[in-house]
Amino acid sequence: MKKFVVLLFITFAFSVIFVPGVSAYASVTIPDSLKELDLTNQLEIYLDQDHLSDQQILNKGGEFVPLSKSNPSGDISDTVYWLKVNLENDTRRQRDLLLEIKKPHLSSVTLFSLEHDRLLKEDTVGYRYPFDKRDYKHRNLVLTLNLKPNVSTTYFLKIETDSFFQAPVSLWDPIAFSEANYMNQSFFGVFYGIMLAMILYNTFLFLSLKEKSYLYYILFVSGFTMMQAIWDGFAFQFVWGDFPWWALRSNSFFIIWTSLFALLFAKHFLHLKEYAPVLHKVVTIFNKVCALCLVLPFFVSIGTMTMISTVLATVFVLFLIAIALTVRLKTREARFYLTAWSLLFIGVLLNLLSAYQLVPLTDLSLFAPKVGAVVEVLVLSLGLADQIKRMRKEKERETKKYYVQTLLQNAVKQMSAVEGLERLSEEGLHCLMDVSHFEKGFYLTKEGKVLSKVNVPAELEDFYIKQYVSLKNGNGDILDGSTFTVPITCGSHTGHFVIWSTQEEVDLTVMESFLPAFIEQFTSLIDQKEKIQTLKKSAMKDHLTKLFNRKYFLEKANEVFTETEPASLLLIDIDHFKKINDQYGHLVGDEAIIFAADLIKKVFHDKGIVGRFGGEEFIVFLENAEEQQALETANQLLEAFRHESLQLDDGTSIYLTVSIGFCCSQPLSFLTIGEMIQLADEQLYTAKRNGRNQVAVGS
Ligand code: GH3
Ligand code: MG
Ligand code: MG
Repeated sequence: MKKFVVLLFITFAFSVIFVPGVSAYASVTIPDSLKELDLTNQLEIYLDQDHLSDQQILNKGGEFVPLSKSNPSGDISDTVYWLKVNLENDTRRQRDLLLEIKKPHLSSVTLFSLEHDRLLKEDTVGYRYPFDKRDYKHRNLVLTLNLKPNVSTTYFLKIETDSFFQAPVSLWDPIAFSEANYMNQSFFGVFYGIMLAMILYNTFLFLSLKEKSYLYYILFVSGFTMMQAIWDGFAFQFVWGDFPWWALRSNSFFIIWTSLFALLFAKHFLHLKEYAPVLHKVVTIFNKVCALCLVLPFFVSIGTMTMISTVLATVFVLFLIAIALTVRLKTREARFYLTAWSLLFIGVLLNLLSAYQLVPLTDLSLFAPKVGAVVEVLVLSLGLADQIKRMRKEKERETKKYYVQTLLQNAVKQMSAVEGLERLSEEGLHCLMDVSHFEKGFYLTKEGKVLSKVNVPAELEDFYIKQYVSLKNGNGDILDGSTFTVPITCGSHTGHFVIWSTQEEVDLTVMESFLPAFIEQFTSLIDQKEKIQTLKKSAMKDHLTKLFNRKYFLEKANEVFTETEPASLLLIDIDHFKKINDQYGHLVGDEAIIFAADLIKKVFHDKGIVGRFGGEEFIVFLENAEEQQALETANQLLEAFRHESLQLDDGTSIYLTVSIGFCCSQPLSFLTIGEMIQLADEQLYTAKRNGRNQVAVGS
């Protein structure tokens, strides 16, 4: 590919240097069936730096040289260019023809005919004169020629330009000219129509989206279109035909304008600041220079301005290349951008190649730059729309993420406030359903128990579980609609959230961003709550006997105590315990306390609340227990101590006895737990005093 490009340029360079000029300068015989005759290579030129008078030019007749040899195209100077051609009408009829100069930007073009050694001024056209003054109202400079029968006439064109000199000249048959014009006009109509449509379309987008890139795009494309209109002569024909002063300056102004906004657009569209910070800085400086230079056309001479705008345009092209090389195909935007400019470049290249006859000159190659421009503008607009679409999606995603995070935060708040796995899973279920918009769900434990459910009728619970299980095993129908399950594994706990919907499809992107955080929060809450539960339990219990401690016993007893029902309270104290400590040591003493506690627990199992009151004293509260029934159990305890003994490591065993103080509260006796303890304590004292190993009951 590279080799091909190099070859192409070499060929191009050679053709520029060696394309031979046509040497038949004497006379141009007008063909009988003339349509268009390109006169450019038949012209002779004299460069008049001294601004000679018309008559003095005649004396320079011998100094005219073929135009192609002089090659002054592209000159910027205040030279007056004199072109000469001899046209021969060898027919017997008068020929009324048109002379078209295909570059409309020349400031002044005067046509002279040579008659009797005098120059006869025929007509003057150019940007210096209002459009309305033209005899032939055309975007290009068109002069009329009337050639008498069988006469050859020498014509002179005096050309003055404030910018570049360029003069492709054609001789036309008027009918052929208007036919060709008609074709061109249609093409131009399509071109400017598309450009205008792109400007309007993107303006509406800018007004609704308020996106800066759109503004730069619109300003760039407007400038670019205006530049084309200036070069095509339409700007002068339709826009500022009455303002030659501006017409002469407009070209420089819009070249700078287009460079400025094309670069501003590139900077924003390609996020140059991010990808090439240094280039971004340099381009920014250049843009500032361009912005300042926009006012220059109003102050400096047109020639100087042309030079300044040419320099700026060259730098602009260099920047375009630098940007293209820097961003390459790194981003999606870059690919759009490079495609767009490459298409324009191909259009211009095709046109240049056809100008140097390296490819055939067809309508396509002639209008290739314009086709390229249209395609470029379209591709850039597509790229911009693509970028905005992606930016919106990104924004939407962010908004959703934020929404989901807020939901999660609220859910965590709710979940932290509740007690127990049931309530926790219910809150979790609500949160999942809020995010997914699913209507039904339950939380299922590993053991197949539904801990919580939403919108699942009790009678259908089993059915749904069965459905879910067979679905999980891969051989069942799905629950009606879409199903989504969220597994939870936390320590010893395993469960599943199962949610489903008949109307909604699950939005996987939302769920993907939500679920990890949800699962983490949910499991950490289970963890936290389990830890708190363990802590609470350990705070309730006595470490030695694992019975409730006094504080928790009192809380519990008060909770279940009602004055409308009979209740009994027992204080149990091991007899002569000091002796055990003294005889066997405190460790065996501890074992004895544990032994007694276990026995008490065994006897009062499921009958009441048992606690360690302190030291080797225990307390039992029997709710809803008649006195007789309670006393029976107390005696069972004494009996149990008689039969069961503490086994020591050395094989010996110790039999313990206990004394029990008993108190019973009858309905409407209005005793408090505290008072019952006091009464029982008094009875305990009585039991001790009466010989121990017995129950004492108050009267
Ligand atoms: P009484 O029949 O009158 O109840 O005689 P007693 O020896 O059991 O007297 P009292 O109930 O007043 O004595 C309780 C003793 O229990 C005092 C203390 O040293 C001992 N003790 C209290 N808590 C513990 C304990 O946790 N472990 C051990 N090994 N001894 C304890
Ligand atoms: Mg005691
Ligand atoms: Mg004791």
